Amino acid sequence: MDFGIKGRNAIVCASSKGLGKACSAALAEEGVNLVLTARTEGPLQETADEIASRYGVQVTAIAGDITTEEGRAAVLKACPNPDILVNNAGGPPPGDFRDWTTDDWMKALNANMLTAIELIRQTVDGMQERKFGRIINITSAAVKAPIDILGLSNGARAGLTGFVAGISRKTVAHNVTINGLLPGPFDTDRLQSTLKPAAEASGRPIEEIAAERAAQNPAGRFGRPEEFGAACAFLCSDKAGFITGQNILLDGGSFPGTL
Ligand code: NAP
Repeated sequence: MDFGIKGRNAIVCASSKGLGKACSAALAEEGVNLVLTARTEGPLQETADEIASRYGVQVTAIAGDITTEEGRAAVLKACPNPDILVNNAGGPPPGDFRDWTTDDWMKALNANMLTAIELIRQTVDGMQERKFGRIINITSAAVKAPIDILGLSNGARAGLTGFVAGISRKTVAHNVTINGLLPGPFDTDRLQSTLKPAAEASGRPIEEIAAERAAQNPAGRFGRPEEFGAACAFLCSDKAGFITGQNILLDGGSFPGTL
């Protein structure tokens, strides 16, 4: 299938590794030019070079913190008129809500809700005028099935999801869609870091904990980042203009509901 987005321009936030990198690679495979972001310059540039040489598209690396005003301004300067925006940032730490201060909440809300809203605010009108836009918010399976120790993530991402549910029904009239992709367990550095506390507490090797968790998934494994990237590229395609305001769970069937 031709996704019909060759030559389009995309901003993919938080994309030197993991799910952001996978979305970038899948878009590049469709001929989309990219602006990538991450805080650490070395790995970001490596990813940009790798994707550019593999797929022959233009890839610009902008090192900076996407959760800051300066970070966002630098990205928008490099790509003022994106056709595609993939919102992503690091996830907040787990913990007990009794320990979280207002400052902890503000950091989580800023990273996992307000940053995406701010980037949408600054790009959506241009997309509407040009009659094409695809916005993807990488959130979490925790939006649908909250996990108690990830309360900061549950709260902030649910806020973003609620906001988008409203505006995505307006933008679609201009061929601008906004959808959420909800990752379950995908094999990335972030996943490995969330397994560490369980390994330390039990005194067992992290590989053993990982194998046990993977076996508990109905698919019998963790998700592969490229599977996530493929879903992102399809939702960003010109074929997906009738899908908006949706939250698509990629969890190997973990969520047990019919819908
Ligand atoms: P990852 O493998 O740790 O990659 C995170 C990427 O984001 C890196 O490129 C990192 O680079 C960049 N980044 C982090 N904070 C940033 C910031 N403030 N500004 C710019 N770039 C930033 O994580 P992942 O597994 O891909 O997860 C992506 C998102 O999905 C996270 O919000 C995570 O909580 C969520 N999620 C993941 C899973 C999973 O199983 N993997 C499940 C549910 C939800 P730098 O560190 O250099 O900035």
